[in-house]
Amino acid sequence: MAAVKVLSGARVVLPTGVVENGRVIVEGARIARSAPESAERVDLTGHWVVPGFVDMHVHGGGGASFSNGTVEDVLKGVHTHRLHGTTTMVASTVTGEMDFLAQRAGLLSELVEQGDLAGVHFEGPFISPCRKGAHSEDLLRHPDPAEVRKLMDAARGTAKMFTLATELPGGLDSVRLLAEHGVIAAIGHTDASYEQTVEAIDAGATVATHLYNAMPALGHREPGPIAALLEDERITVELINDGTHLHPASLELAFHHKGAGRVAFITDAMDAAGFGDGLYHLGPLEVEVKEGVARLVEGGSIAGSTLTLDRALRRAVTVDGLPVEDAVRALSANPARLLGVYDRVGSLEPGKDADLVVLDEAFVLKGVMRRGEWIVAPGRA
Ligand SMILES: [Zn+2]
Repeated sequence: MAAVKVLSGARVVLPTGVVENGRVIVEGARIARSAPESAERVDLTGHWVVPGFVDMHVHGGGGASFSNGTVEDVLKGVHTHRLHGTTTMVASTVTGEMDFLAQRAGLLSELVEQGDLAGVHFEGPFISPCRKGAHSEDLLRHPDPAEVRKLMDAARGTAKMFTLATELPGGLDSVRLLAEHGVIAAIGHTDASYEQTVEAIDAGATVATHLYNAMPALGHREPGPIAALLEDERITVELINDGTHLHPASLELAFHHKGAGRVAFITDAMDAAGFGDGLYHLGPLEVEVKEGVARLVEGGSIAGSTLTLDRALRRAVTVDGLPVEDAVRALSANPARLLGVYDRVGSLEPGKDADLVVLDEAFVLKGVMRRGEWIVAPGRA
């Protein structure tokens, strides 16, 4: 019989709400219903236990990028985010040459197959030059279903999401193709009008890539994509809650419209996450990170974040004043459902992977468990 651990005394966040003095039983790699007398006890009094975080939009970390570098580099990035509580993540690529992206997809798909990644997210090249953010303008292209298909094939069934400027020629056909194959069509890096956004949602788009960032602002005569994405319940919105990308009132507006079930906190992190200030590359572009804020050396556009999801949670609760259970949903169940992995992860329920995060009363990370193994072991009181 596999080793059994009983985590007890903590406030446990379950899908049904917060349980005071709760217990989580871990048997081998899974959460179990009951424990034998001989089980190892871990006293977590004064702590929170929440599901492991799920990041559906992340480009790298720990000095490593998912868009280039070796398998070892990618695993270093994955490990860095695990140390910060993210136990499930996709790898997001940035705009590159089609052949290069297809090759990356092949490499990343192997890491999906061996269980280190939950899928591949292609951000670019099918995005708008007007809202390119930190993507190379000369490599951008119109969405073309044949090219979308080429990348899907290169990812061998592991492509989970494409971020598209759906207003461009070929955009709606690409959305339909993705929806038919169960791949998320995400609206982002877009210059779409309100009406064009509604069309894309009707065609099957289900996610807003970092809502507010890299899209037209909400205007009184031109409500643009933001109004359409906020009001339609078919859409889940990604938010980068790092204090740089988004005002707390904008976050509140998103939660007000979407409810706690249609928001996903993401990092959109680049290499510097969990690493430090300095000069980096995002795809072919040079990025300088100063005091944790990543900007393109040329033009100064914000270039991803250096966020980790433990910080996103701490900020959501202590600065934005969100209820813990709402913030936790946005970090676990909501993205897990979208990625199609909620049967295994995203909540603390018997039979699921024992992926969890231990936090102290100030929401500082104290422990991380993935598949029953401590990645960060909590100090024993
Ligand atoms: Zn991104």
